[in-house]
Amino acid sequence: MMREPWTLKNSLNSEEVIKMETHTVLFVDDEPNILNSLRRLLRKEPYESIFAQSAQEALNILDTRDVQVIVTDLNMPEMDGLTLLTRVQQKYPDVIRLVLSGLGDQESILEAVNRGDIYRYIIKPCTDMDLKVIIKQSIEKYKEQMRLRLLANLIENASYVMIFIIKPDGRIVECNALARTTFRYEGDEMRLQNMRALFRCEAYGGWDTLSTLVKRDSHWRGELSAIDKNGVEFPVDMVVNRSEKQRTDIEENLICFVRDVTKEKEIEYMKSEFISLASHEMRTPLTSIKNSIDIILNKKVGEINNAQEKFLSMADRNIERLTIMTNMLLDLSQLEEGSIDLNRFEMNLKDCIDNVCKKFQSRVSEKSITLEANIDANICLVRADEARIGEVLTHLVDNSIKFTNPNGNVTISACQRKEESRKTYKNIKDDIEVSVSDTGIGIPRKHIEYIFDKFYQVESSLSRQDRSCWGLGLAKCKVIVHAHGGKIWCESTEGKGSTFRFTLPQSEEET
Ligand code: ADP
Repeated sequence: MMREPWTLKNSLNSEEVIKMETHTVLFVDDEPNILNSLRRLLRKEPYESIFAQSAQEALNILDTRDVQVIVTDLNMPEMDGLTLLTRVQQKYPDVIRLVLSGLGDQESILEAVNRGDIYRYIIKPCTDMDLKVIIKQSIEKYKEQMRLRLLANLIENASYVMIFIIKPDGRIVECNALARTTFRYEGDEMRLQNMRALFRCEAYGGWDTLSTLVKRDSHWRGELSAIDKNGVEFPVDMVVNRSEKQRTDIEENLICFVRDVTKEKEIEYMKSEFISLASHEMRTPLTSIKNSIDIILNKKVGEINNAQEKFLSMADRNIERLTIMTNMLLDLSQLEEGSIDLNRFEMNLKDCIDNVCKKFQSRVSEKSITLEANIDANICLVRADEARIGEVLTHLVDNSIKFTNPNGNVTISACQRKEESRKTYKNIKDDIEVSVSDTGIGIPRKHIEYIFDKFYQVESSLSRQDRSCWGLGLAKCKVIVHAHGGKIWCESTEGKGSTFRFTLPQSEEET
């Protein structure tokens, strides 16, 4: 490799610029021939190179120009390279600082490197290639530094989400400004807090269980209550993720995103209050209209002609439909509010499933569908409201039969959830998992996350044409399962079939 002698006769205009790209590298050397040869060497590099013949001149340039990397000689009259770099670090801490020199005072160089004043020390003579590579690395280092700064800024100033970096035991390592202001802690006060004190995690088995779940599944999401410095509680939506661990010997951090959902909860509450009130208020007049129509239709107040009978029958059917919806809404909102108590007793899931199967016997044989139950012999008792769990199963099976073509299959299964890591995470209790699978039309992927929302129906679905369907059934199943402390979800492949699964916590006596 050819070595650059860095000797050039012509003296250089010290601030001569070779325009290449947006990044700028400033070279400082009191020897014009060295600057000159650097200029020639770096002419085609994809950054702008500028030159200064003294430390003072370099400082003047830095006052007026945007410089990303500075490369200086050590021994210069008036002000040496290390003093220059110390000043640069104090005034322009982002500038990446390099020394390009023969061996100097080893001790002071080492000290400067250790203090972080110098990013690289390039010992002369070095190859052209080495020099170019190191400068490119320095520009990359600058860009990386800026990216990290931007990221840190984004996190600090994120105005919609609180961000916490925490240890698995709940100690807070870092958090952003929104977290501090929302919890009313100042400056470093937050770092003295622990997630256990800031959030009520009891409903999920406490912080340790939650942290164990994050370790197992890589993330966790849930709604819980937060408590600020003044003891005021507010509802939050929390997502906890494991951070990518670079090394195995250090304890990993968890990243926690928290959103204050007070406003959303208020709106949700107002909406369900309205629905509850409206459906309650509609029930009495609906019953009265229906009774009146029935009286006329039954000719108890005189004869009616065919046309009158036809229109009254139509009204009767619509009143019937409206009554079903009103009752469903009222039931749903009362379940949501918790104003209906669940009758939770030890119940035999197998019996419940058998009853549901019997209920659909004639319908499945009419449609030539096979309905099977597949129940794990080890599970029998769960503590649940038998009528409500029956409602959930009935609705899921009803949907499956509705959306499965003749000769298809519907299977109800119940088993103990197989937790692969059960031995490792003893504090997580196994649940009973019940599923209803079909070989029906399936649900397009884009709809799956919404089908448990109230009034949601798949636009192409048959159920939209079915006048007794309001898109409330799955919403009700969700409320019932959640009221039991379980989860419900759906897996589906369009054209192949769907599986609806829900969990129920195992009966205390069973565990
Ligand atoms: P509804 O109460 O009107 O029956 P649901 O809340 O039960 O409505 O279901 C919502 C939507 O989910 C339905 O419109 C239907 O498109 C879809 N769906 C539910 N179960 C199935 C299934 N087993 N197969 C295909 N689509 C389904």
